[in-house]
Amino acid sequence: MEYKRSSALFIEAQQYIPGGVNSPVRAFKAVGGHPIFVKSAKGAYLYDEDGNRLIDYINSWGPMILGHAYEPVVEAVIEKAKSGTSFGMPTEIETEIAKLAIEMVPGIDKIRFVNSGTEACMSAIRLARGFTSRNKIIKFAGCYHGHSDSFLIQAGSGASTFGMPNSPGVTVGTAQDTLLATYNNEASVRELFAANPHEIAALIVEPVAGNMGCIPPAAGFLQFLRDICSENNTLLIFDEVMTGFRLAKGGVQELYGITADICCFGKVIGGGLPVGAFAARREIMDFLAPVGPVYQAGTLSGNPLAMIAGLTMLRAINSDAELFKRLEEKCAYLENGLRVAFSETAIPFTINRVGSMISIHFAKESVVDFATAKLGDNEWFKKFFHGMLQEGVYIAPSAYESWFLTDALTYEDLDFTIRAAKKVAAEM
Ligand SMILES: *Cc1c(COP(=O)(O)O)cnc(C)c1O
Repeated sequence: MEYKRSSALFIEAQQYIPGGVNSPVRAFKAVGGHPIFVKSAKGAYLYDEDGNRLIDYINSWGPMILGHAYEPVVEAVIEKAKSGTSFGMPTEIETEIAKLAIEMVPGIDKIRFVNSGTEACMSAIRLARGFTSRNKIIKFAGCYHGHSDSFLIQAGSGASTFGMPNSPGVTVGTAQDTLLATYNNEASVRELFAANPHEIAALIVEPVAGNMGCIPPAAGFLQFLRDICSENNTLLIFDEVMTGFRLAKGGVQELYGITADICCFGKVIGGGLPVGAFAARREIMDFLAPVGPVYQAGTLSGNPLAMIAGLTMLRAINSDAELFKRLEEKCAYLENGLRVAFSETAIPFTINRVGSMISIHFAKESVVDFATAKLGDNEWFKKFFHGMLQEGVYIAPSAYESWFLTDALTYEDLDFTIRAAKKVAAEM
């Protein structure tokens, strides 16, 4: 396949937009080469500016769980736009989507809508800090909670328990309020609680990690987090921006039977428009302005286009009793095919999967945290990525990203993908 026009567009874009992209992972820096410019998409397929058709395993990083240009969402957005796109005033549809989300997700009484997952997580920790009158938070290395300052933190050197900024522009003062633990490692969490008694407002976690590839929580890990947070009067925040409405109607809380204190949403909840949300039980949510003292706001928050897209998407998910079963079966089928493809070669690999999230790591050892995810061989990954692209299959342009399956995929698409993987693996 040729990607000439995409390359030309990328070269032009770089003159006017930093790196040619409005979000860094799109730039293909981890895999080399030029990114693909999309012209349109429908169902499971992307159509690029060179006229290529690609089977899409990213689906806008998750939202298009029912496929691209899903007709009910598209029609609802068009219809809504005719009566105005933003008012900065309340509309009935905000209550409708709030009611439905609260019905679908366990343990939440109220929800506030924002414009991105970043905003949701940033606001959730502010709320947690306000509610508990404490400053520190715990996050896990390799978990991503958007690009706000408190989360752009890496492990400090030596034995220090507090983090260091991992981007210029994040102050050391901010970084010192974020403590870093190791995913799936109970001892690392216990140590942080022991070293910072009565100081930890919240522990935030991707309850199934998806930003270091897909990493499932070890047996008992989420229950352990629930218990240690309760014992320490620390709020447990599940960042379900990726997993919410994707792994189950009620997300990881439903799937693993653990209730968090605050949940963050994004991606699927907006049906492909910019939406995020955070939710909790009444007592916590009523700490937010205008009821309570914690300030949080947004000019375009809850705008009618975003809300109708989200509401239409959630209704479709809520009314389809077989959706998550189908996604599970499709992804299990793909997993099995990929295993066979790589088992026939000498390439070391590990595949992780939960529901419709899957990732392949070119490492022998199991991938259970950020350190083990980093053991994956990026040269193998690059070859696999570009090989698949040549075959017309688009996977995430980074070894640290999960694939997100859409229900629009047919078994023919999956077989095509598996055949492509076999061919690419044999050539690697
Ligand atoms: C994508 C993501 C975010 C950030 O959401 P944006 O809409 O990109 O700001 C936060 N948390 C998790 C787990 C995510 O996957």
